[in-house]
Amino acid sequence: RALYKGKQVVVLGLAKSGAAVARLLKACGADVTVNDKKPENECEEAEALRAGGITVICGEHPDDIVNPSVDVVVKNPGIPYTVAPIQAAQSLGIPIVTEVEIAYELSDVPIIGITGSNGKTTTTTLIGRMLEEGGLHPIVAGNIGTPLSEQTLQVRKGQTLVAELSSFQLKGTRRFRPSIACLLNVYDAHLDYHKTKEDYVHSKSKLFKNQEETDVAVLNYDSQICRNLADDIRSQILWFSTKEEIEQGAFVRSSEIIFKRPVTGALAEKLDEAPEEERVVRLDELALPGAHNLENILAAVCVARAAGADIEAIRRILRTFAGVEHRLEFVAEIEGVKYYNDSKATNPEAASRALTSFSAPIVWIAGGLDRGIDFKEMVPLMRQNVKAVITYGETAEKLLARAEEAGIIRAKRVDTVTDAVAEARSIAREGDIVLLSPACASWDMYKSFEERGVLFKQSVHKLKTSP
Ligand code: ADP
Repeated sequence: RALYKGKQVVVLGLAKSGAAVARLLKACGADVTVNDKKPENECEEAEALRAGGITVICGEHPDDIVNPSVDVVVKNPGIPYTVAPIQAAQSLGIPIVTEVEIAYELSDVPIIGITGSNGKTTTTTLIGRMLEEGGLHPIVAGNIGTPLSEQTLQVRKGQTLVAELSSFQLKGTRRFRPSIACLLNVYDAHLDYHKTKEDYVHSKSKLFKNQEETDVAVLNYDSQICRNLADDIRSQILWFSTKEEIEQGAFVRSSEIIFKRPVTGALAEKLDEAPEEERVVRLDELALPGAHNLENILAAVCVARAAGADIEAIRRILRTFAGVEHRLEFVAEIEGVKYYNDSKATNPEAASRALTSFSAPIVWIAGGLDRGIDFKEMVPLMRQNVKAVITYGETAEKLLARAEEAGIIRAKRVDTVTDAVAEARSIAREGDIVLLSPACASWDMYKSFEERGVLFKQSVHKLKTSP
């Protein structure tokens, strides 16, 4: 914890994680300045931080904020590498890291890191529940809920930090070394920030970069990108696959989840009391719906088992854990129509997964922020599973064009998600599914995917009372 004692640190970006890391560094004896371009009245935590002895500058990036006496710059993941203070740090050779790196450096408990384009929150939550049930006292943090650095000084020996990590956070790591690292999948999301897929894949692969042989890597065997990464990974790999039986890891055989532990290496020693092959649960026992969630479940089984959760605890959670809000969340059944809220599906891959999760015809509500994606790959799925498309937001016209391509006659543009629910009701017939799975971010119209999902749910519940 003495690592930053007396060091000069500039934290760029005063959001939740910026404030948390500033407090952590201050508590460890650093001289901390927080800087944000936002005006003072939007920097909610500024006063509280100042009261704690932290310098806070809002409204601009002063020219000399990053100067030769600065030891390290902590960059909020939302701040691009092109802003002046970051450029200054680069030319002065000052390390630029993200909050996750600092949290890691100052923490002395093992960290389990979970990343991927989709499924992070669901899998992280599931792992947290499995470890809790297994008596391992996890603390779940990171991209989900509280920042990692807020938990760093709270955790006690014997606990584990379970961290959901975005690729933005991973990009700014140096020594970060999770004892168990899990990469769920790599899709085309976030290309606007990372510019190229290589850069995006590279930041995901940083999760494994500092791992040693005694650590564990959990990867998706069904993803070619994950398989390509394996050659450079030093830690022990557990694979998961929904398609094939694999040598070590989790897979499906005859509608049953199987976990096969390694027979050599550190993990083999740790699990040597267990049979080499464990039958986990049958697929029909799972409480969590959706084909994509099977991938998340298999990944979670690997991580939880590697962390030492017993198989019985894992079974109990798999039989009861039904998912996280806004992720393929069942809302209500009205007049024989089931309504699902999947507002968190902010890219086409996530929405595609939702569209494959039902066998009944789907009235699909989608649309939102235009990130320049063309939705072309969704056409075959739309043709197969979607009976009507209701769309809103910036991408409405694009989605209408794709609906036409898919031969969907009932396609309509509306103004809001609330209007979409009313429209969906008039189209849906008994046995149908009404699914909000936007395939787009929400920021063109809503504060967040949460707000969008809550509005959807409220509108659905109102249907119950309206004729
Ligand atoms: P993240 O935290 O990575 O955004 P979530 O668990 O919040 O992931 O799920 C976001 C959306 O992604 C869900 O609404 C779901 O439709 C979809 N999804 C979840 N898991 C997967 C997966 N393994 N593969 C593809 N899509 C997924």
